[in-house]
Amino acid sequence: MLSKSQELFERAQSFIPGGVNSPARAFKSVGGTPVFFKKAKGSKITDVDGNEYIDFVGSWGPMIIGHAHPAVVKAVQDASFNSTSFGAPTEIEIKMAQLVQGMVPNVEKVRMVNSGTEACMSAIRVARGYTGKDKVIKFEGNYHGHGDSFLIKAGSGALTLGSPSSPGVTEGTAKDTLIADYNSLESVEKLLNENEGNVAAIILEPVAGNMGCIPPVEGFLEGLRKLCDAHDVVLIFDEVMTGFRLSRGGAQERYQVWADLVTFGKVIGGGLPVGAFGGRKEIMAVVAPEGPVYQAGTLSGNPLAMHAGFTQLSILDRHPEYYVELEEKAEFLAKRLRAVLNQHGVRYHMNQVGSMMSIFFTDTEVIDFNTANQTDQEFFRKFFHEMLKRGIYLPPSPFESWFLATTHTEEMLDNTIVAADDALGAIKPRD
Ligand SMILES: *Cc1c(COP(=O)(O)O)cnc(C)c1O
Repeated sequence: MLSKSQELFERAQSFIPGGVNSPARAFKSVGGTPVFFKKAKGSKITDVDGNEYIDFVGSWGPMIIGHAHPAVVKAVQDASFNSTSFGAPTEIEIKMAQLVQGMVPNVEKVRMVNSGTEACMSAIRVARGYTGKDKVIKFEGNYHGHGDSFLIKAGSGALTLGSPSSPGVTEGTAKDTLIADYNSLESVEKLLNENEGNVAAIILEPVAGNMGCIPPVEGFLEGLRKLCDAHDVVLIFDEVMTGFRLSRGGAQERYQVWADLVTFGKVIGGGLPVGAFGGRKEIMAVVAPEGPVYQAGTLSGNPLAMHAGFTQLSILDRHPEYYVELEEKAEFLAKRLRAVLNQHGVRYHMNQVGSMMSIFFTDTEVIDFNTANQTDQEFFRKFFHEMLKRGIYLPPSPFESWFLATTHTEEMLDNTIVAADDALGAIKPRD
């Protein structure tokens, strides 16, 4: 008999491309049927068949204080009675901008958008408009949403020009995106020298989370800051995943390196569709209507989204101890998982920064796209499904970060370790 999830997935595929509204949900990298959910509370998530899981996806990051936090739910409910949208300014937008500025001091001015994708697309347009230059450097394996300029992979051979990584992206767009290697200042310097005077911005995930969790090596962020200053390039930190997660002030505060522009998403919206980009006043001054760089949105600064985001951020702002607790939980989980993996003789490399972590099934240290790609995907696939069977919902891809929430209890983490021990016992070890 088909499970309800299987039934829904079949139905979904008749009406929605691939049955999902975003490809990462489709279980392509792990196989099987995506789980359809109906409700969640804290870090417990319940599927349409009534199975309960401990959730380490957290909607891919936003749910840092758990699902359906009572204050966030109430804020959305209350706001909805006064209309779900005006398309005109409201006071909550000012409160939100002020709160973001208070938590991330170098974001002197901020513009709200509806997704991380929009935030990153807009940030590079602003950088180009501000500098009058065209090219942008990004890092292989970093994700900045699905804007055309970012769906570019390294060109083949000696060519430094990028090439489209998706049909529908033109060669014309690709030629303005240059691809560097993560954690390699050398690769950046080379591109800057070859394209002297033509690079508007360097954009990166200050801690990579979209090729699994990969922290910056010592000196990498500082080095980029120096290179940007020397070459008159706008440094953009894409903190869509790390913002308000790795600390109150995100990766910038954690590493004490300050970008010129910063993009946000995920945590900033408390689970509603919110993105934002902001930074130095004189750069943000080019944004319309203050300046000539066009950027707009009918639903930008939407009242429900702003109330949800403002409420979640206020809670984080008032509870700096949450970040200490999140880190302790992640370290506890990582330490116990290491013990279990060692016990089972699994070869792995684990990366953990704050409440983000990933296990790579490989012998080598994972510092960039190439080393991440050496992970044994087949082993991950088995591990994922054995964990799922035991009530642990991990990101359905070896190239995603697991996220801890304040609502993960010690008992949940204990249960996760027991499940991992059991799961690894059920999988034949790698040769
Ligand atoms: C998720 C993510 C994005 C895209 O955000 P969406 O809201 O999915 O458009 C961009 N950058 C990073 C670092 C992300 O993790």
